[in-house]
Amino acid sequence: MVSSTPQLCNNLHFVFIPLMAPGHILPMVDMAKLLARRNVKVTIVTTPLNALQFKASLDREVHQNSSKIQIVVVKFPNSEAGIPQGCESLDTLPSMDLKENFFLALSLMQMPIEDLIEKSLDPFPSCIIYDKNIPCVAEIATKFNVPRIIFDGTNCFNLLCNHNLYASKVCDKFSDDDDDQVIVVPGLPHRIEMRKSQLPTLFNPGTNQNLIKVREKIRESEKGAYGVVVNSFEELELEYVREYQRVIGCTKVWCLGPVSLTNKDDLDKAQRGNKEFSNEIENKYVKFLDSWPKGSVIYACLGSLNRVSPKQLIEIGLGLEMTKRPFIWVLRGAYRKDEMEKWPSENGFEERVKERGILIKGWAPQILILSHSSIGAFLTHCGWNSTLEGISSGVPLITFPMFADQFYNEKLVVQVIEIGVRIGVENAVHFGDEDKFGDGVQVTREKVVDAIENVMGEGEEKEKRRERVKEYADLAKNTIEEGGSSYNNLSLLIEDILNHVSKVLIN
Ligand code: UDP
Repeated sequence: MVSSTPQLCNNLHFVFIPLMAPGHILPMVDMAKLLARRNVKVTIVTTPLNALQFKASLDREVHQNSSKIQIVVVKFPNSEAGIPQGCESLDTLPSMDLKENFFLALSLMQMPIEDLIEKSLDPFPSCIIYDKNIPCVAEIATKFNVPRIIFDGTNCFNLLCNHNLYASKVCDKFSDDDDDQVIVVPGLPHRIEMRKSQLPTLFNPGTNQNLIKVREKIRESEKGAYGVVVNSFEELELEYVREYQRVIGCTKVWCLGPVSLTNKDDLDKAQRGNKEFSNEIENKYVKFLDSWPKGSVIYACLGSLNRVSPKQLIEIGLGLEMTKRPFIWVLRGAYRKDEMEKWPSENGFEERVKERGILIKGWAPQILILSHSSIGAFLTHCGWNSTLEGISSGVPLITFPMFADQFYNEKLVVQVIEIGVRIGVENAVHFGDEDKFGDGVQVTREKVVDAIENVMGEGEEKEKRRERVKEYADLAKNTIEEGGSSYNNLSLLIEDILNHVSKVLIN
């Protein structure tokens, strides 16, 4: 394995190009850190404001682990793409109407990245690991004849569902009016039923022709990739990993996760995604969690984008209040943020729950909170990172999916690995379409209470669920340590690129 060839590893240079959105950049930075700890050089290419978010953590990585990891910045083309200055990531866009502009900005970064590779990266990249949502990297890699590996941001269950639905064309049988039609995803080890409207935008493309073209370009660019890296681990979904490898006819699918476990000390956990996080705030949360018994606190957070309507969020808040259990509720939200931020104080909610509830109105140190033993349930939107972070912390999930891959993740969690409970969301509200759905409430406060009690209450089934998720958490911790499957997969990836580079040199 790779440990026997440290000198050769010295010459390897992996370049990471992450999408600028927390759910994409955070796991790629974690993955980059894991790789750099194996004695290979790693460069993360990003824009100035994104770089600031994780600079401190990478500086520590260099000093503590002697990692050869660096950030190289390219300008974000704000004015060229019509995006206000100061916004360099999806979550900071003032409106989702700018989604198209954001994709334009990504494509405008092609030339500066090419310049960088040509003139500044030393040694020349051995491999580029990039987010699939930046399809111009396919052209960059072809130009420089460098293998490109896709980071998809999801799991193999997801990849297989999408692959099988797409290949079988089952969705083509339904018209747009058939949103409620139940589709059985073909060719899976489990019987997975989904409503058409709950499937990702690949199967619900909407009407914006420019965005449709962007998605087609992304799909087209996936062809010809050297391989795929996945933030998941084999012990969690082995049948799906093997089946996905089989259907795409390629063993170059490397499960390397859960990558967030690379953040071991509290400072790394607290600062992940938020450079401004201070010890004072960290201590406040830890002190609060320390004051409650093991497994008693609910953590509710609907991701970095949080697109739930204010009325629905209020129902969640009132549900949390009704449980009489302690909680941490993250109210961070881009969608109609101002309305929502006033509600807890104007309505008296904050005052009523102050003895047992903490509201976080900005960025939460999620992995720090989840890893605290007082957390007993995680109400999540089922973004894949959050889902995996909950599992790796041994915390059962309450699932509140909204769009993209989230309904798939709910199925994986509730039906396949059985460590979570549905809260009862039926309808997807696709990213950027929130206004079309108005203020609709899908989940009442009573349903919130039921789901929480179903996870945190007493009883054999609940106990077994808690045990199961703890077992997965142990497997997750072991898998990234020496000898674990994700650790070994990372070795295989390095070995593969090493062989590739050697062959190119010989020829
Ligand atoms: N996150 C966080 N604090 C927040 C919100 C999100 O640390 O207040 C992190 C979370 O730990 C996860 C990522 O942001 O790693 C969100 O990714 P996910 O795939 O769960 O959802 P998305 O935000 O992409 O919808």
